[in-house]
Amino acid sequence: MAVVYPFTAIVGQERMRRALLLNAVNPRIGGVLIRGERGTAKSTAARALAALLPEVRVVADCRFACDPDQPTTWCTECRERVACGEELPVEMRRTSFVDLPVSATEDRVVGTLDIEAAIKRGERRFEAGVLAAANRGLLYIDEVNLLDDHVVDLLLDSAALGMNIVEREGISFAHPARYILVGTMNPEEGDLRPQLLDRFALSVDIRGISELAERVAIIERNLAFEADGQGFRDHWLSQEGSLSQTIDAARRLVDRVTYSKRNLLSIAALTSSLQVDGHRADLVILKAARAQAAFEARTAITDLDIALAAELALPHRLRRGPFHQSEITLDDLQARIDQAQAQVGAAYESEPASEPQPADKKKVSPAG
Ligand SMILES: [Zn+2]
Repeated sequence: MAVVYPFTAIVGQERMRRALLLNAVNPRIGGVLIRGERGTAKSTAARALAALLPEVRVVADCRFACDPDQPTTWCTECRERVACGEELPVEMRRTSFVDLPVSATEDRVVGTLDIEAAIKRGERRFEAGVLAAANRGLLYIDEVNLLDDHVVDLLLDSAALGMNIVEREGISFAHPARYILVGTMNPEEGDLRPQLLDRFALSVDIRGISELAERVAIIERNLAFEADGQGFRDHWLSQEGSLSQTIDAARRLVDRVTYSKRNLLSIAALTSSLQVDGHRADLVILKAARAQAAFEARTAITDLDIALAAELALPHRLRRGPFHQSEITLDDLQARIDQAQAQVGAAYESEPASEPQPADKKKVSPAG
């Protein structure tokens, strides 16, 4: 197997690296779209991320790499085995990197149920597709704008749901499909429909690097990697290991990261002042901010986490045109948050929002 360029040796492209890392902490944020010209290291970064990720516990002989610790996500086969009293064997496995061909069809992606075998012999036979191979891994789609819209829809659906459910003629088969979705496109070769664009949680626009010192570093590192790939990788091994551990720790922490009503106000202030349609962006910003906090080993989100998350969640959701803003900066995002907090924030000060009370319970509570 070819040696993979180390993630930690990538020069610049801070937003792209951050978007990938947040999805590695929580793949259910819902995918990253990287837009940029050819030769801007988009696929290098995605491959490098997969090679970096911590090993995961899987059911050793399950073709869907089910997580032995998450019974609610198990595939139909693992469920049946446990129901029959079998104990599932466990092993550690590296994160898979699945490269989706642009010609992929629906059947190839979701898999197929053999209806004839079911009717004639009462057997349930499922031929696994790309989503099976991608579970717990990274699914990479180069030139996503050239893929069939319907297939892109399916991929985004299962990424958000975390399951792939195939149903035909009253027979169904389900397996987990939790993957880091990374799509790339060259904007010069046609755009994605706005509906599909909005379904990618995060997006990053890559530009060539103009800073001289960074360009020099890129040349030096590329030459060193070409001359001796394995030696170069070994040189970066300790950085790779430490980033891998940080991701592992953040994965364990992310579900416990809390947020307050004040935080939600900051998010709403951003999306409403920038006239973002719908509510998907608000939820994406919250998820990405929680992943950002977990990545920094914190258990509560801050306004900076929110601004950093919005910087990745909003670029592809802003309306384009002469009267709308097409570029956003971190400073601008933070200024908008500060302004909203100065106006109405006091009323929301530190009020917890993580566990809303049922409406009827509120009525009878002595404090209400
Ligand atoms: Zn399974």
